[in-house]
Amino acid sequence: MSRFWSPLVASLSPYVPGEQPKAQLTKLNTNELPWAPSSRALEAIGGANNESLRLYPDPESVDLRAALAKVAGVSSAEVFVGNGSDEVLAHVFRALFQPRRPLLFPDISYSFYPVYAALFGLDYETVPLDDDFAVQLEDYQRPNGGIIFANPNAPTGVVVGAAAIASLLAANPDTVVVVDEAYVDFGGESVVPLIHKFSNLLVVQTLSKSRGLAGLRVGAAFGDAALIEGLQRVKDSFNSYPLDRLAQAGAIAALEDVGWFNDSCQRLIELREWLAAELRDRGFGVLPSAANFLFARPDHGDAAKVFAQLRERGVLVRHFAKPRIDEFLRITVGTREECQCLLDALDDLG
Ligand SMILES: *Cc1c(COP(=O)(O)O)cnc(C)c1O
Repeated sequence: MSRFWSPLVASLSPYVPGEQPKAQLTKLNTNELPWAPSSRALEAIGGANNESLRLYPDPESVDLRAALAKVAGVSSAEVFVGNGSDEVLAHVFRALFQPRRPLLFPDISYSFYPVYAALFGLDYETVPLDDDFAVQLEDYQRPNGGIIFANPNAPTGVVVGAAAIASLLAANPDTVVVVDEAYVDFGGESVVPLIHKFSNLLVVQTLSKSRGLAGLRVGAAFGDAALIEGLQRVKDSFNSYPLDRLAQAGAIAALEDVGWFNDSCQRLIELREWLAAELRDRGFGVLPSAANFLFARPDHGDAAKVFAQLRERGVLVRHFAKPRIDEFLRITVGTREECQCLLDALDDLG
């Protein structure tokens, strides 16, 4: 606390990211990909590491937006990029949500949403997940200043189908619906194609998870060109150069390496299904996941204790001390060896 802080700063409760430990721990806590990104991406970053760093990067990220547009099957005018999808989301809250009515998002979802709402002075209401921890989109059909949810949801991994999202969009034509597809490549169905049918749909994606580039900070949004223009207006009122030269070069090469991407997603999904079965064998209740993590409840429900016991054994997972989910652990799918470390540590608990 300082008397120099603005009233806004004093009122904030910032997002708390998962720990990035200095010690040698088996790190299954922040949903990073457990293996190296595309070697073509790393080479492109190396190739951009030269005297051209003297110059500012392309403020519009024209080539990167074209690469994203190609992968997504849309036009460049329908693509926005930012310094990680967290920054994209911040601009979305500022540019596209209406302050007159409460924003709606699930009671259990990405914990950055309430943080951005507070930062930008937006009122919000949370909508409970159903008893199976699924987002029930029928429950969002009421007056709102915008709707946002993650699909697959975080930290549950549970997915909703594109048909349900299309119904919501049709029933909610007057405010923007944002679908945060951070994990979609691990088994969800992207609704990017629906942006041509619904001018109020914005889809947010990231290269941090399925492309294995969390350290590069590249996120994107797809939507009607008028929504994208709104985001650009905010971006150019905040930071004209959110993506540096290395990030733009690396991201383009990563998007072009389709072979690496397909193999990596496939391997991850196989590991996820194997790990889920191993956890169920050990008495865990595991929600069906379409993401690169599992949300799992030990049979006795004391997840905080298991979290601490695992940490003592060098395995770091994530526990949220929040109502409804405090009996669960969120476990990132690691390499087979990392998952085995987790399983061995659990067996050691007896
Ligand atoms: C990881 C994550 C993000 C943020 O990703 P960055 O692109 O690394 O900022 C956004 N939304 C959800 C649901 C996430 O899990």
